[in-house]
Amino acid sequence: MISREELKEIAKIRGNDAYFVSLYLNVNPVTNVKDNYVIHVKNMLKQNVEKLDKVIMKSISRDFEKIESYILTNKKVFKKGLAIISCDKKNFWKEFHLSIPVRNDIIIDTTPYIKPLLDILDNYQRYAILLVGREYARLFMIHLGEIEEYIEIYTEGVPGRHKKGGWFSLSEKSYERHIDYHVERHLKDVLKQLDTIMSKEYVGRLIIGGSEDAVSRVRTMLPHTISEKIIGTFHADMNATGKEILEKTEPIFRAYENMKESETIEEILTKAMKNENAVIGIEDVMNAIQEGRVMKLVLLKDFSIEGLLCKNCGHLTIQNITSCPYCKGEVEKANYVTDLIAQRAIEQGAFVDIVYDNPKLKETGGIGAILRF
Ligand SMILES: [Zn+2]
Repeated sequence: MISREELKEIAKIRGNDAYFVSLYLNVNPVTNVKDNYVIHVKNMLKQNVEKLDKVIMKSISRDFEKIESYILTNKKVFKKGLAIISCDKKNFWKEFHLSIPVRNDIIIDTTPYIKPLLDILDNYQRYAILLVGREYARLFMIHLGEIEEYIEIYTEGVPGRHKKGGWFSLSEKSYERHIDYHVERHLKDVLKQLDTIMSKEYVGRLIIGGSEDAVSRVRTMLPHTISEKIIGTFHADMNATGKEILEKTEPIFRAYENMKESETIEEILTKAMKNENAVIGIEDVMNAIQEGRVMKLVLLKDFSIEGLLCKNCGHLTIQNITSCPYCKGEVEKANYVTDLIAQRAIEQGAFVDIVYDNPKLKETGGIGAILRF
């Protein structure tokens, strides 16, 4: 999973006389039927050879060997997008497996190139999940449907409810107060750390879970900056696995995403009606994509359509044609038109939003886009 803190660290690295190879590769199995990623990488490199100095090319040759063998041997773990940043001279190697496709790109420079990764952080909502107990808390991040534990916060010195130990001289009531004081201190510490992490990672939304008691107590203590970010709460055991937490929180963030998507779809429909930089329906969306005008593409998850693809220039159409209108090339049936459309949109820097369910979008053709111009 990408973290802004980690990217910040990577961005600080300087090669001085060493060069970094930053590779972004679309490895979506659906749009890469032949699995020929290495060929794509070699072609991208070839385009760089003319621009780059021979000395630089030589200095990164080891990186290329590493990248090539990595791609050949790790296909099984590929998702839709792959990012590799490598600098053999500095002994630096970092890979990111992304569940959204990326635009193929290779950048050779004395600094790592991380902008596409930062864009993914900015464009796709991340959720912080706080699982809180009376002496212990765990913070998770959810991004693009994946969960990762970010930090554990354990406060020493919170006495157990039944352990009387050295406190036998205290009355039941003062013992309760004593526990209370420590629990309160622990929760304050948790919230302080939560606030810091959420702002340094720019996380916009939060879900809180734990025992009923801990959740309601923490809610009363939340500063406004955090409470306005909460989109739901849930109950779970402190030892819950990441998978269990993902299952419990999925309905919460899905509902939130549905609401946001509905807003976007409303915006598209209103704008498209007024002819204001938005289109709806496959025909208009495809035209906008071929013209490179799409800023945000919205489509239903189960939206599918048959189309034709020009073998020569890659022109994509749903019209029934026998040869390409642009290059007269031969056309073939394309089975994954939706994936190809999404990939094209990403290649022109657009943000792609796959909508799980939206009756209005379904009624209006299942696909729409907000345009740049
Ligand atoms: Zn063509």
